[in-house]
Amino acid sequence: MARYTDPVCKLCRNEGSKLFLKGSRCYTTKCAIERRRYGPGQHGQARKKHSEYALQLREKQKVRRTYGLLEKQFSAYYKTAAAQKKVPTGLKVLQLCEARLDNLVYRSGMVPSRAQGRQLIAHGHFTVDGTKVYTPSYRLKAGQVVSVMEKSKALVKSIIEANPAPIAPQWIFADLDNLKTSFINPPAREDLDGTIKEALIVEYYSRK
Ligand code: SF4
Repeated sequence: MARYTDPVCKLCRNEGSKLFLKGSRCYTTKCAIERRRYGPGQHGQARKKHSEYALQLREKQKVRRTYGLLEKQFSAYYKTAAAQKKVPTGLKVLQLCEARLDNLVYRSGMVPSRAQGRQLIAHGHFTVDGTKVYTPSYRLKAGQVVSVMEKSKALVKSIIEANPAPIAPQWIFADLDNLKTSFINPPAREDLDGTIKEALIVEYYSRK
């Protein structure tokens, strides 16, 4: 499967905000955004005037990169969100991203980044309701319980000890002593990052 292999801090600098892609380093003064709050490359410091389209594109890229998704995966979430009518499309896109297994493992505090969560899931260290799952994009339903395999507990505990994590948000139950976590319910808009302008993402895909 295709994946991004260049330095991830470049992505944050490109978007001009912290996407928290590098685990505990993101919370220290070593964070590249803290040291160089401008875009990468020769023209990174040039003042840019953004068109409406560019603003929409940047917002879409920011969210897509935060969750570590390929364009195909992210646009599939948009199509799913646009096809339902119960929840505003932009919020639904964010809820679908939050319901991913790799996101839950990260949000619970078991791993310092979604990328590491993806790697551990692909290597078979987690179960969902007792069944081993190897798919980082697995979409969790409310109430499903994610646990660490017995043989993997020492590994995950050592990761937690080395990377003290932020507290899990309220829509996630996290029991780090017993290495269990659960998706309680999809987050409400006010529970999510207020700096995300999901309306721009909807406008981006609507014009296509
Ligand atoms: Fe982004 Fe983390 Fe790198 Fe900072 S350390 S630029 S937040 S990936």
